[in-house]
Amino acid sequence: MLAFSPSIKTLVAELKKLPGIGPKSAQRICFWLLKHRDEGYGLDLSQALSKALGEAKICSLCHNISDDDPCNFCSDILRERTKLCVVEEPFNIYAIERSSLYKGLYHVLGGNLSPLNGVGPEELNLNSLVKRVSSQEIEEVIIATSPTTEGSATAHYIVELLKGHRNLKISRIALGLPLGADIDYVDSLTIAQAIEARTII
Ligand code: ZN
Repeated sequence: MLAFSPSIKTLVAELKKLPGIGPKSAQRICFWLLKHRDEGYGLDLSQALSKALGEAKICSLCHNISDDDPCNFCSDILRERTKLCVVEEPFNIYAIERSSLYKGLYHVLGGNLSPLNGVGPEELNLNSLVKRVSSQEIEEVIIATSPTTEGSATAHYIVELLKGHRNLKISRIALGLPLGADIDYVDSLTIAQAIEARTII
């Protein structure tokens, strides 16, 4: 069987590492980029990637990824600084923002607890969450992890972790969402309803 030439093989192998891209999709994208080389898509993609990799920073306060540290949410003086919404990944912030209902701050965990995949409490941004809740004027923590087994286990862990903080309201929005849903794929109206109907734990 003839193999791909080295440069194509390398590109396919790199594309295959992306989330949601299987071997067939990796080959399709690779050959599409090469076929449309003269239109500049590939070059634009590599330049955008290189610019984002060079300029993106992890916010030292909330662990969001953006061009600035602190990120645009943390440095926005108009946001309510008494509310903290805990999400799994940086892109979940934009799902919550689409609902236009929440105006507080965020905290990005970096995933969910998943013992089978080797993700324990130490792998998540939990120490900084406790620190923020202890040292800032946070009055409510809204947990927006997905309504999956792992998302629920993570929410439960956070509740236990923050339970001792006086006068802190802890709520969870995901209970209003379809069971097993990834909040990134849920429409903004459903998210808005889920935030409004959040349950105080
Ligand atoms: Zn931030």
